[in-house]
Amino acid sequence: MPDSRTRYGIPLVLDSTTATPYLVKPIELGADLVIHSSSKYINGGGNAVSGVIVDAESFSWDFDRYKALAPFGKYGKMAYGVRMATDVRENLGCCLSPFHAFLNILGMETLGLRMEQICEGARSLAETLARIPELQVRYPTLPGNPYRELSEKQFRGRGGGIFTFRAGSKQKAFDVMNHLRYAARASNIGDLRTLVIHPASTLYIHSSEEERRRAGVFDDTVRVSVGIEDPDDLIPDFTEAIRCCL
Ligand SMILES: *Cc1c(COP(=O)(O)O)cnc(C)c1O
Repeated sequence: MPDSRTRYGIPLVLDSTTATPYLVKPIELGADLVIHSSSKYINGGGNAVSGVIVDAESFSWDFDRYKALAPFGKYGKMAYGVRMATDVRENLGCCLSPFHAFLNILGMETLGLRMEQICEGARSLAETLARIPELQVRYPTLPGNPYRELSEKQFRGRGGGIFTFRAGSKQKAFDVMNHLRYAARASNIGDLRTLVIHPASTLYIHSSEEERRRAGVFDDTVRVSVGIEDPDDLIPDFTEAIRCCL
């Protein structure tokens, strides 16, 4: 990772939601600020909406440049975190309810176990689907994927829980999703259950053609967030749906 701090005078801020703290330790890799949607893998059960900001307190803020932090200048490298905790959290009221915090903590205790099962399920399902000639599957550990080496180095050799495949047409993508029995259609990720969605008509509905293309989102793309189900259940569910619909 380039040292953004010294070269451009800006902090390196990383959304590590999909990587999870189990697979990647961004601060050790040079990130200054790490954000997580804890509604996803950290919670694990899709039952509480919340987020986390982790400040490594590694960035030397230039308070002439980052003017909103200037009143917190006396805190030095802690200025951003203190502003978030006081100015933003206290004044905007974005405070997590105790019950939702409890659900997150309960879920977090099994993060490692879930990630091992999820990564193994995603890998075996993605590899199986990649052998179907009509499909184009994207998953970091697949041969030929440009992120394969990086996932080996930075992801403990795992590929995470999310992959996409292109079904050939929008209609085929819809048909496959509608045919699945175990996987639910939902916009969430990081659930215990396998979830599928058609990104082009949902998450990327407001994006331009160019933005979608850069994100790898096409009309026939299906996103899969793999859960903790037994791959022996998931694989037949997907292969049968694909056999019926392509
Ligand atoms: C879901 C998600 C968010 C937003 O989090 P919410 O908990 O839904 O507000 C941000 N970043 C990533 C990568 C996400 O997947």
